[in-house]
Amino acid sequence: MTQIEDLSPRLLIDLFRDRFHPKKSLGQHLLVDSEVIDHTIKLACKSDNKPLEGKKILEIGPGAGSLTLGLLKEKSKVFAIEIDDDAISHLDRIFKNIDGDFELIHGDALSVKWPEGIKKIISNIPYQISSPILSKIGQYHSQNPLESIILLIQDEFASRMAMSDGEYDMGPLGLNLWLDFNIILDKKVHPSSFIPQPKVNSRLIIMEPVNREETKELDKNLFRIITKHCFSNRRRKISTLLSKVPSRLSRVRNWHKSRWKNKIKNILNYNPPGFDSGWTDLRPDRLTVQQWIILRKEIGKP
Ligand code: SAH
Repeated sequence: MTQIEDLSPRLLIDLFRDRFHPKKSLGQHLLVDSEVIDHTIKLACKSDNKPLEGKKILEIGPGAGSLTLGLLKEKSKVFAIEIDDDAISHLDRIFKNIDGDFELIHGDALSVKWPEGIKKIISNIPYQISSPILSKIGQYHSQNPLESIILLIQDEFASRMAMSDGEYDMGPLGLNLWLDFNIILDKKVHPSSFIPQPKVNSRLIIMEPVNREETKELDKNLFRIITKHCFSNRRRKISTLLSKVPSRLSRVRNWHKSRWKNKIKNILNYNPPGFDSGWTDLRPDRLTVQQWIILRKEIGKP
């Protein structure tokens, strides 16, 4: 029986590559840098200052198993969802007989049912599925509250999630995440930390669930539709954007074209609290998060 202490990220990746080629199409950039791996595991422990031991953790896309190994060393209960047959065969072989609590789920993380009772999620997330995975994390969290989510993603995508660069990063992605999470940018991770190397820098981020006063009883569905609609063309003025009815409006309960048109006609003629005159001439990336919340509340008033 292989001992967990005998394994290292480098060895795991060598064993994987002895048999298989990493697949670009699945975003297989395998994390080899022990410093980054240790730091990621530490973030998962630190984010609520409780040890990982016995805690149910979901890893999305374990690949050769570098992060999985770190989690098992912390004695957490690891569920890992992997889509790739080759990675599954490798992980099965390596971790089957290891002394650790590990459950491998073969499937697409976007469509398989996630195990219940997960407290944390960790993932070196493939770029191709970053956005839909975030939606799925949001849905899971609303039914099954998470303690924290630690992700390694493209640096530019991380800035958009955190809206860290003002207007440039402002958009529906960050605005909608803001409703439920604090997005904390951590270490930048250089391409040389991966095999094979990606073309761009990556970033570790922590998603920390929050209950915000401003979003209590807010219909997030309508917020999502308004923000997506207004950023569909970020060079237009707010007045032009709002005057058009969002295409998916009828999916929100009690909403229809004429209710929207009447409401918007009123709103465009006054300054809601927190808005200066001339606000309707602004472009959508000039409004603050708080203003979007106010706007959503104004639109939703009976
Ligand atoms: N966690 C590993 C591997 C990261 S590479 C490490 O850090 O080294 C991304 C992994 O996600 C690959 O193993 C890839 O096969 C897997 N993956 C890609 N799309 C997926 C999907 N839809 N569902 C589950 N896993 C997926």
